Amino acid sequence: ANQARVASLQDNINRPTRTISYPKRADGKPVYTSEFFGENVFSLHQIAKALPKPAYASFLKQMRGRQALDKATADAIAHAVRIWAMDRGATHFTHWFQPQTGSTAEKHDAFLTLKSNFTSNGEEVTAIDAFSGSQLLQAEPDASSFPSGGMRTTFEARGYTVWDTTSPMFIQEGPHGTSVLYIPSVFISYNGDALDEKTVLLRSTSAIAKSCSELLNLIDPVPVGAQPKVSHVYTTLGTEQEYFLIDRSLYSLRPDLKHTGRTLIGNLPPKHQQMDDHYFGRVPSKVMATMSEAELELFRLGVPIKTRHNEVAPQQFECAPIFEEASLAVDHNLLTMDVLSKVAHKNKLKVLFHEKPFKGVNGSGKHCNWSMSTDRGENLLDPTVKPETNYRFLLVLVSVLHAVQQHGGLMRASIASSSNEHRLGACEAPPMIVSVFLGEHLTEVLNSIEEGRPIKNFSVPEIQTIKFGGTALDVKVASLPSISRDLTDRNRTSPFAFTGNKFEFRAVGSKQSPAFPVTILNAAVASSLQDVTAALREQMGDKPYPSDADKVAVIKKFIASTKAVRFEGDGYSDAWIVEAEKRGLPNIKTSPEAFEQLLNPLHSDMLTKLGIFTASELQSRHLILQERYAKDLLVEATTLSTLLASQVLPAVFEYRSSLAQAISLLKGIDAEDATPELSALRALTPVVKELQAAVDNLNSAVHKMHEVGDDPVAEAKYACAHVQPAMTEARAVADKLEVLTADKYYPIPHYSELLWF
Ligand code: ADP
Ligand code: MG
Repeated sequence: ANQARVASLQDNINRPTRTISYPKRADGKPVYTSEFFGENVFSLHQIAKALPKPAYASFLKQMRGRQALDKATADAIAHAVRIWAMDRGATHFTHWFQPQTGSTAEKHDAFLTLKSNFTSNGEEVTAIDAFSGSQLLQAEPDASSFPSGGMRTTFEARGYTVWDTTSPMFIQEGPHGTSVLYIPSVFISYNGDALDEKTVLLRSTSAIAKSCSELLNLIDPVPVGAQPKVSHVYTTLGTEQEYFLIDRSLYSLRPDLKHTGRTLIGNLPPKHQQMDDHYFGRVPSKVMATMSEAELELFRLGVPIKTRHNEVAPQQFECAPIFEEASLAVDHNLLTMDVLSKVAHKNKLKVLFHEKPFKGVNGSGKHCNWSMSTDRGENLLDPTVKPETNYRFLLVLVSVLHAVQQHGGLMRASIASSSNEHRLGACEAPPMIVSVFLGEHLTEVLNSIEEGRPIKNFSVPEIQTIKFGGTALDVKVASLPSISRDLTDRNRTSPFAFTGNKFEFRAVGSKQSPAFPVTILNAAVASSLQDVTAALREQMGDKPYPSDADKVAVIKKFIASTKAVRFEGDGYSDAWIVEAEKRGLPNIKTSPEAFEQLLNPLHSDMLTKLGIFTASELQSRHLILQERYAKDLLVEATTLSTLLASQVLPAVFEYRSSLAQAISLLKGIDAEDATPELSALRALTPVVKELQAAVDNLNSAVHKMHEVGDDPVAEAKYACAHVQPAMTEARAVADKLEVLTADKYYPIPHYSELLWF
């Protein structure tokens, strides 16, 4: 292997695993996780302590109504949070927000302020620490460098970040024992347009809360004049985060990983994931060190990370939190990604969130487990023991089916990106067609209702436990306890699957913020709940509330109308593609096409009617997505072309010249002696020429993309149709050369080194 690769492999081998000290008591015993969980969060409890009772009551009201805070309350909170944060080393504060870049943004300001006193001796300047209510509530970062999709022209580039009181403030530790106070915020324009992911997410959670409460209060009526039984409905979200962790020094030798997050060339090693020996295997110690250090920080930040394990591909891992209210869960997922990156860096590792960092092995997703819950904590997607007569559950269930039926295309758009494009439809990733998997039991429940017959085969107590040791053959396991079984089996191939008491949106990419897909899902279901409520009202006529028969009639109606989106079979199979087309389900293959769904009146009318997006917000988002796609591809193409021209080809030339030298030396002895080297050289020649041609072709595709003009939509389309294939073609040739070139000359780490370090 070449010197840089050898040096970095040696460095990796000789490097001790980093150790940190987990919190300990004075007597040396460990502090329990539950005791330091959330210690870096300024909780509601602390706000309560800081405010007089009536002020706290009004804060709660404002928080739930999502109104602006009054100045006196804001000042009191600002003061309390500054003291709390400064006592924990904070020197700065920042509004922390989510522009449409796929990541978070922050700009730090010191608490330090100068105060002038004018006395008879002239001006006296004193340094003080201060943080006012208005600084807490609002900041004005220069918005002109964030994507706006043409919504802001530069002369009105103002944007505001405003504290989102539904998400608590927290501190993050920095270097030298200092820290920074983070204020979760929304980001809006001078005119109040959403420039970020959070604003629309909050709008969507309000919309679904409203539609869902209306349905629940209609089917579960309260006496006239009494308070509605359900006053609020939350969407709940648990994000399973998949990622790769690789050695950082090897990573730094791969310009493609550095600039694009994925490898643009490279062959699989002979052994990769075929043996299924990585999934749930023992976590490698360097990785474990990173995971648990990240968890320690996340626990302090109040992020309830619950699960960690090896994933299917070599060097692929997953973590998952306990689910929370959706917008908090989104913040927590973004924090998780942030903390993982930071801690991996300290451990000399690099975390890759890209959906497909390595061709040929599994990519990474972010399964978004989603449900709705009432303010009394009842999960609305809990089928309970007898789903067939649980009409509330069934009405909510058919609402979700109806949402996918109506807006599956929009859901597809919400998970589209240049990076997810490489994952979807390949290597155990869900296909591009959005369908719903319900499992055998619920399918039978719906079929029996549709056919008006009793439900068969599902005596629930039996299917809910699996008994060990019932038969003579099982004697050995008779000591194991009986275990309970979920109401659903699993189908890994479905993009949107019912898993026990929630839906799992699995097509979501590992790199993207869950905010947009969850916003779209919330919106689609909010609208669908309205349709179901309207159908119920129509069915019940002038009765004050619907009878069970009315409910069944409506459930039946929606079962019938949503049949096309239900699919229990193998979503990876070619037969499904044919079948889906027969059913009229959209099969949107490329991202630029998917983004167009945002402007399709079928979806855009729904989004604007619910007040989740304005028409101009949608137009701008559409442009931002197209533009990002085009830019992603441009960066990839130029990275690849440079890598091939400046590293791969020169390395092959060097190898060729060493062969040529050997040939001329050997010929001096006997022409026959030179034939093996000669044939190695001759095998290379046509492939080298092919690669040169492929690089030229790639460069000309990039060049032509610039000529398309200043139109993001046309650029994205062009990139998808011409730049992407030119890259694929160049890669195929480069991968042939990787095998033909002596390892010693090959300039960048192979997959075999990156994936097995
Ligand atoms: P699996 O890999 O088996 O799908 P995990 O335990 O990795 O399961 O992840 C399941 C995720 O679903 C967890 O984050 C969990 O908190 C979340 N979850 C469970 N119930 C709900 C619910 N009602 N709403 C939203 N998310 C939920
Ligand atoms: Mg899962």
